[in-house]
Amino acid sequence: MKKDFLKNITLLYVEDEIEVNELTSAFLSKFVGKVISANDGQEGLEIFKTYYEDPNKKNIDIVITDINMPKMNGLDMLFEINKIDSFIPSIITTAHNDASFLQKAINLRVRSYVNKPLNMKSLIDSIIITYEPIYLRNKLENFNNDLQKKVERKTYELQSILDAQDNLILVVTIDGTTAVNKTLLDFFGYENSTEFIEKQKCISELFIEKSNYFATENCNNWVEEIMQREDNNRVVVMKNKKNEEIIFRVNIKSFMFHTKHFVVSFTDITDLKNYTYELQYQATHDNLTKLYNRQKLNSEIEKEIVRENRYQHGLSLMMLDIDKFKIVNDTYGHDVGDIVLKDLSNIIVESIRSTDYACRWGGEEFLVLLPETTLTESLTVAEHIRENIEKYSNPSIPQKITISIGVAQFEVDKDDAATFVKKVDIAMYKAKITGRNKVVQYEK
Ligand code: GH3
Ligand code: MG
Ligand code: MG
Repeated sequence: MKKDFLKNITLLYVEDEIEVNELTSAFLSKFVGKVISANDGQEGLEIFKTYYEDPNKKNIDIVITDINMPKMNGLDMLFEINKIDSFIPSIITTAHNDASFLQKAINLRVRSYVNKPLNMKSLIDSIIITYEPIYLRNKLENFNNDLQKKVERKTYELQSILDAQDNLILVVTIDGTTAVNKTLLDFFGYENSTEFIEKQKCISELFIEKSNYFATENCNNWVEEIMQREDNNRVVVMKNKKNEEIIFRVNIKSFMFHTKHFVVSFTDITDLKNYTYELQYQATHDNLTKLYNRQKLNSEIEKEIVRENRYQHGLSLMMLDIDKFKIVNDTYGHDVGDIVLKDLSNIIVESIRSTDYACRWGGEEFLVLLPETTLTESLTVAEHIRENIEKYSNPSIPQKITISIGVAQFEVDKDDAATFVKKVDIAMYKAKITGRNKVVQYEK
């Protein structure tokens, strides 16, 4: 039997026969970590107490005692020791074998006995048999404690990793949200994760419904639902504690195969989105008038032509050119000219439908594309614009501002974008040469 573990134990040996005590103690010391000897029950009890009470001393692990001793016999001593520590393992050495003392010994939970004169091998075997289960149990307990500490440390480490992230992070399992990071708590204004997880059983309820952004009523499978989307479509909007709407790209990592375990990470892309919108706006709009620019109208004309060739609901175009605008600039300055350009652009936008496209085609020249419109309708709109501009007044400019407008209707399967624009150009030119401040429709 392996005896190594004996090196870690402290043993109290109580024997009144000095010679036996000395010999046995010396023998035991070869195998046992620490042997403390006492010469009677009284002394043994005192030593046990001292070790038990002194925080600097390791408790006694096992007691071996003789029965018949002066002052206090072995069983009475064990009775007293049991009151202090009822689980202390004990072995008795005895020349007796009468039933009454055996019964008493059993009641005191004595684990083993060794007959006198002592056979040293039997004594060691008894110690091993008595102490080994306790040693193994302690070992298991220590192992479990270490394991628990390791798990606690790892959990703490992982939480620290999560908390160090700028992204909002949560762990979603079949039971719902099971962990969140500090960034997420700060974002929503929560103090601790338990409170958040309790109150916010389903984070998808926080996604705000907006076009182009993901939102769902489906509380249980929102992760799977968003995962079906393409990467760049996994974008949601949520409100922070200050009630500001923030745009997030959602990144999902599934862990543990075949089970519902996800780490969901929300990256704030509000600035990026705003920047993208700004770039998109700049690429499609005229800086001064905020109307669509030439490129944007060109692409819209192409799209509307395709639709018109297919559905034939009518597609009109008008070209508008401010009359004698050079004089305005020359007389009142370029800045005033700019204000007029902006004001007239607003008048044009207010005079058309939201489905029409108004564009600054060149310096003081505009194009308006009117889908789903007949020639008669667009002539009415053009006349309406012309009248509204005629009514326009600006304190910096005493003179009237007028505009000339050419109108044309798209001819299905005949025109293309270039010929269509050419038509309104011709009509507009005709308006100019026939007196200005008028609407002229294109004629072949
Ligand atoms: P018409 O009736 O024949 O169209 O006469 P017009 O003077 O309007 O035409 P013209 O083509 O001779 O002059 C256009 C003027 O528009 C020239 C320029 O001073 C002015 N213009 C063009 N772009 C801008 C702009 O961005 N700001 C300002 N203030 N003026 C502009
Ligand atoms: Mg002009
Ligand atoms: Mg011009």
